[in-house]
Amino acid sequence: MSPEEFRRQGHAAIDWIADYWASLDDLPVRAQVAPGDVRRQLPASAPEAGEPFDAVLADLDRVVVPGLTHWQHPRFFAYFPANSSPAAILGDLLSSGIGAQGMIWATSPAVTEVEQVVLDWFAEALGLPEDFRSDGPGGGVIQDTASTATFTALLAALHRASGGEVRRHGLGDAGWRVYGSTQAHSSLVKAAIMAGLGEDAVRAIGVDPLTQAMDLDALRAAIEADVELGLTPVLVHLAAGSTSTGAMDDVVGAGRIAREHGAWVHVDAAWAGVAAVCPEHRAHLAGVESADSFVTNPHKWLLTTFDCSTFWVRDRAALTGALSILPEYLRNAASESGEVVDYRDWHPQLGRRFRAIKLWAVLRTYGLEGLRAHIRSGVELAAHVADLVAADDRFEMVTEPSLSLVVFRLTAGDEQTLAAMEEVNASGEAYLSHTTVEGRAAIRLAVGSWRTTEADVDRTWRALQEAAAAQD
Ligand SMILES: *Cc1c(COP(=O)(O)O)cnc(C)c1O
Repeated sequence: MSPEEFRRQGHAAIDWIADYWASLDDLPVRAQVAPGDVRRQLPASAPEAGEPFDAVLADLDRVVVPGLTHWQHPRFFAYFPANSSPAAILGDLLSSGIGAQGMIWATSPAVTEVEQVVLDWFAEALGLPEDFRSDGPGGGVIQDTASTATFTALLAALHRASGGEVRRHGLGDAGWRVYGSTQAHSSLVKAAIMAGLGEDAVRAIGVDPLTQAMDLDALRAAIEADVELGLTPVLVHLAAGSTSTGAMDDVVGAGRIAREHGAWVHVDAAWAGVAAVCPEHRAHLAGVESADSFVTNPHKWLLTTFDCSTFWVRDRAALTGALSILPEYLRNAASESGEVVDYRDWHPQLGRRFRAIKLWAVLRTYGLEGLRAHIRSGVELAAHVADLVAADDRFEMVTEPSLSLVVFRLTAGDEQTLAAMEEVNASGEAYLSHTTVEGRAAIRLAVGSWRTTEADVDRTWRALQEAAAAQD
């Protein structure tokens, strides 16, 4: 592709995105294809001769779009949002254009230093403790996902608890144990598997039936029972906004119990943490000032195109102690001077792209005021959904609304709840997801797209009411 052709096709690609967005409202939210439908339309092998880029754009319309579930659709309410925004897309594009590898400071100083500044800004915007800033003993880093952040936190915790033994000789016979509530994200168990602890090392602590928050008496009992057996608590995972219902574990109380036993406290606020840009939506982060690590995903609710998971630690030495490796070919004066941060020591992989640009672009173009307005609109729309649920006898709330997440069901029962949801999803009118709470089926409606208006919520609600009526 010549530079001129690149300019022309680049404009066409941006136009394609703008047109795609403009068409979303009229498209079914959930993909309407059967397994194999997309594959069948693609040739079995790559072309021998190069094709013009227009051919790729044409196939997006012909093959790809019909096989998409439209995550950017104004009536996408399933899972959690994965917001993309104009600012983030342009930032991501610029990062691709620069194409720098930021594995160490010396391979491209701006990649590291912009990321440090952006994470310091963001930590301040969320009201996180000073200790997490890059000018103290801690610091922040952008990970690909919260799952990687949790895995990294576990490796740092093992390093600290073992005094470095784990990186030298492996896990040994300490009997490491990890604690999270029954509602902890599945990435906690995966982290234990990847770290070589095995799933059995994870203790699933019961929750309060109403709030779904971790039962602290049960946490204390589990830790004490393990210690009695000669096992070693290494990490306590706390959900500040669980995936299923948005439940908030008590970070202050659980943190105190964890610290009594020397365990690392990791706060997983993957979805709900970004709400703390609003001072009135920070209550769930109380206690984070004594946590060892904290993660939240701007790539969910905060308008920053996947992937962008911001992760902070109170003491970066535990992290770099666990993961630093210095092959001869990466030796350099800046690293040896100790004056710079080399992010390759902050996560499993070596190579890293310039993800900070898209978060920088989002923070600067929306401004904190713009981001607060976005979060507040999601919370308000969720409160509106809760009002609609309360006003219709066929529905009931399952848990209290949590920020922009509403969990409810049909009073008729589990089967009717799931059938009504499936009817709405199959129609393409809106897209919702489900969970189980205390053994009973529930519908999750997570607001968060910048395109969603009250009219979208009302339209979705009418579809749900019709589907509920069909269940009677
Ligand atoms: C979404 C979510 C995760 C996983 O996020 P990824 O970035 O996709 O790994 C972890 N924890 C919670 C509470 C979540 O909601």
